[in-house]
Amino acid sequence: MKYIELGLREAVDLVRNGQVKATEIVESYLSHIEAVDPEIKAYLTLAAERALSRAREIDARKDKGRLAGAVVAIKDNIVTRGLRTTCGSRILQNFVPPYDATVVERLEAEDAIIIGKTNMDEFAMGSSTENSAFFPTRNPWDLERVPGGSSGGSAAAVAGLEAMAALGSDTGGSVRQPAAFCGIVGLKPTYGRVSRYGLVAFASSLDQIGPLARSVEDCALITSVIAGFDRRDSTCADRPVPDYLDGLDNFQEKVRVGFLGENSLKGINPEVAASYLRVGELVAGLGFEVVRMDFPSWEVALPCYYIIAPSEASSNLARYDGVRYGLRAEAVELADMYVRTRTQGFGSEVKRRILLGTFALSSGYYDAYYARAARARQAITAELQVAFRRVDFILTPTTPEPAFKLGEKQDPIAMYLQDYFTVAASLAGVPGISIPCGLARDGLPLGLQVLSEPFAENRLFKFAFLLENNIKFKNNMYGINTRGRRKNEN
Ligand code: GLN
Repeated sequence: MKYIELGLREAVDLVRNGQVKATEIVESYLSHIEAVDPEIKAYLTLAAERALSRAREIDARKDKGRLAGAVVAIKDNIVTRGLRTTCGSRILQNFVPPYDATVVERLEAEDAIIIGKTNMDEFAMGSSTENSAFFPTRNPWDLERVPGGSSGGSAAAVAGLEAMAALGSDTGGSVRQPAAFCGIVGLKPTYGRVSRYGLVAFASSLDQIGPLARSVEDCALITSVIAGFDRRDSTCADRPVPDYLDGLDNFQEKVRVGFLGENSLKGINPEVAASYLRVGELVAGLGFEVVRMDFPSWEVALPCYYIIAPSEASSNLARYDGVRYGLRAEAVELADMYVRTRTQGFGSEVKRRILLGTFALSSGYYDAYYARAARARQAITAELQVAFRRVDFILTPTTPEPAFKLGEKQDPIAMYLQDYFTVAASLAGVPGISIPCGLARDGLPLGLQVLSEPFAENRLFKFAFLLENNIKFKNNMYGINTRGRRKNEN
């Protein structure tokens, strides 16, 4: 069996009990990356030498960590000491961070091997990776299509067998949506579950780091390692972290499951709707009570998100002024230098968000935009809280349609509509996982989103694991040939 086909959990078990060397695994990943990445383009920076020397060091050691030999890719907005971190932006094109993000420290402390930094929409703004300042990433299932975004490089790397798992960041759907487009599993944890220290800030009240992997089990293992209190992030919760693998395959509870009514499915792709309805039947067939629910406030979730996120971004991105780090444009006057640096350094979507956010926060408009959005956010949060008194989980499609073609969404609003099902959980801070739930007619994967109460990742993983086993998604990942194309239609 080829090493790249091993799941993370399997590979780690083999490395820990000495049956396989971490070095051999890393070498097979590097040669596969060399073969397929020229087409998929998941990576912005490859850390081949660093990965190999880590692997040798792990092989030489007797005591091995919980992630020994796990080959993990990191989204390029998560800082890595000595390893270029661009955020997909020209303004940070040559930025080499002097420190590691907490999540990176925790992965490496358990002997995970960082293989490289993945492509993304600039500053995590987008749903297709086309907003990367460098190049778009392609979907391993169909190279004409986008892998989703903004963690598109991370999702494509995992689906293209260029990494066992990856970290992404999710502000309004950026882990869940690319996971759905690429037929893999992705978790946005509860806000505060995972430290944001070392995550380049986009919208600080929404940003959360989460894993993308080939199975619920692999996501659960990574979350067990990266979650938990960190005094360097004041929003990080001081709560114990359970071992999410513990009893993962043992879900005995008789739960009630919220399922969207027809009203909420209007206007979405019919194949997405059909596969969602099939999941509803499956859940009922497993003996769970399915409760139809509509969420009136979700109608305003998208506009609410597109006020709050740009507002926070306009403030967070003020730090890229050409003075302290990143790009600096030539100019005689200081003010001129600011303007030129930001004009040259930021791409058009980032500029659009800064303008939107600055406008929404400006005096005279603050009440009409930001303050109203903040109230809408409270209403959305309250609606979900009430819903979770009636049901244990809420199921939705992850995206309104399967992966679209590169260049297809020129209109920003059309791109924003991708986030229709994902932003409510972000605004309310609740966890959400996307698991593959079927294939569209043209062979593209479809995603199911499962939401739960805050800090209930333990149950969320168990329930998602059960669904995963019953859906029996037939992934084509093992069918990818060395040119990144699909070998067989399935
Ligand atoms: N697509 C959304 C946006 O562009 C979400 C991005 C994210 O979660 N980082 O803002």
